[in-house]
This record gives sequence, C-alpha cells and structure tokens, in this order.
Amino acid sequence: MGFLQGKRALVTGIASQRSIATGIADAFHREGAEPALTYQNDKLKSRVEAAAAEYGSDIVLPLDVADDAQIDACFEELGKRWEGGFDILVHCIAFAPREAIEGDFLDGINRERYHIAHDISAYSLVALSRAALPLMTEGGSIVAMSYYGAEKVVPHYNVMGVAKASLEASTRYLAYDLGPKKIRVNCISAGPMNTLAARGIAGFTDMLKHYEAHSPLKRNVLPEELGATGTFLASDGAAAITGQVIYVDSGYQIMGM
Ligand code: NAD
Repeated sequence: MGFLQGKRALVTGIASQRSIATGIADAFHREGAEPALTYQNDKLKSRVEAAAAEYGSDIVLPLDVADDAQIDACFEELGKRWEGGFDILVHCIAFAPREAIEGDFLDGINRERYHIAHDISAYSLVALSRAALPLMTEGGSIVAMSYYGAEKVVPHYNVMGVAKASLEASTRYLAYDLGPKKIRVNCISAGPMNTLAARGIAGFTDMLKHYEAHSPLKRNVLPEELGATGTFLASDGAAAITGQVIYVDSGYQIMGM
C-alpha cells in the first residue's frame, strides 16, 4: 500500500514535464493519492489534461492566482467533485517580471514588479490556503516550494528572493493558524532545477554548475527527490512537522564557503 493511499491531493503549477509540480504529482500518484490538477491559462490546458489522464484523473481546473474569482471558482468546483473534502494542497507557483530577475536588484525593481512578484509567489499561498480550508475538514498538509534566495543573496534572484522570504514567513503564520485544525504547512527549499520558470533567471546555468561544484553531494537535485520529500511531508510520517523549511538541495544550505 502506498504512503498516500486514499488521500486526495490538489497539485498546482504544472507547466511542463520538467515542472517540480510534475515530479510531485508523479510521486503522489505512485503512492496511491488521487490527484486533481490546475492550469494557469489556456495555453497550458491540454498539457495539464494529458498529465491528469496519466494519473487517471479528470479533475483539471483553471486557476490564475492573480484572480480572486478564479480561486473561488476552482475550490467551489473542487468541492463538488470531491464531496467530503481533500487532504493535500501543493503550491508550485511563482512569477516575477523578467526585467526584475535579469540584472541587479535595484536596477530591475519598481513598485509594480515588486507587487506582482509578491502577489503571485507569496500571497497566493495564503489565498489558496484560505480557500482550501472549508474542504480540508479532516486536517491535511499544505506544501509550498521555496528557494535559498529567501535567506541569502543569490545574484539575479533579486525580488524573487524577497518574495520567497515572504512565502516562508507566511508558511509559519499559516502553520500557527491552521495547526488546531490539524492542517500542517511546510516549504520545500529546492536546489536549482532546469524548469521554465528557472530559465527566466539570468545566469541560471551557472547556478546549476555552482551547486555541482560546491554542494556537499556534488550534484544537482532530481525531480523525483522533490517528489519523495513532497510525499513525506504530505504523509502521516510527517504528522508532527509544521511551519518548517526543508532543504532538498544536495546540502548546499549548510555551506559558509
Ligand atoms: P515551472 O515553470 O515549471 O512552474 C511554475 C508554475 O507557476 C507554472 O506552472 C506556471 O503556470 C505557474 N504560475 C505562474 N504564474 C501563475 C499564476 N498567476 N497563476 C497560476 N499559476 C501561475 O517552474 P518550477 O521551477 O517547477 O516552479 C515551481 C515552484 O518551485 C516555484 O514556486 C519556484 O519558485 C519553485 N522553485 C523552483 C526552483 C528551480 O530551480 N526550478 C528552485 C526552488 C524553488
């Protein structure tokens, strides 16, 4: 029997085969969970439908987190499809305007870009958690994706690092609020992975090389390793873990030099 047998999981953020959300949804499926998927826009719809079909799921819902009406509609529909609620919410969503993540922090930032990065990458976790709450009646697990740029300067990561710091702090406040309802909230801080979002960050290929050269494990992280950690955090094995940032980064986070 899989770790997640009988659990229902809403996974956001699939944009390609390489998406971290794909690695997590694959692992959930293998461990017996029933997944529902969301797609950001019509361009991604057929791709996400194909992924869902591989998992034997036909619950594929539109969700642009910039739009409160879409958030409401998504969870209303989910409530109809999953009477009795669901158990796991995975947040794999981030965005910053390209100009803000290609040069220096100050050069690329303005009020609007700062706002967009925080709205899509951090506030969305709060908005989705609030919308999910009435459906997570038996408790559950919320997992979001972060990166080391939240706590240390990573050149070019810029406003995304500031937004990830907000995501991690939001995780802790959510964990405190939702603990009495038996809902756990955690972040996985992943090492760099070659995805569509990551390719928007200037110098991304150098980041991959840097982790290979300087992390204790001397290699980059694999999608299935993020899937395995996502599965663990969603499972009863992590029943007393909440409000944490778990590093899945080949150990890079422990290094000083
Ligand atoms: P990805 O491009 O595959 O996924 C990003 C997803 O965000 C896409 O599915 C996109 O549709 C979605 N998204 C963007 N704006 C949205 C909006 N307004 N509404 C709904 N969805 C929206 O890239 P990924 O690397 O798999 O990113 C997933 C998460 O992992 C992000 O939070 C990212 O910051 C985080 N992360 C990535 C890395 C990395 O190196 N790739 C490392 C650490 C953390």
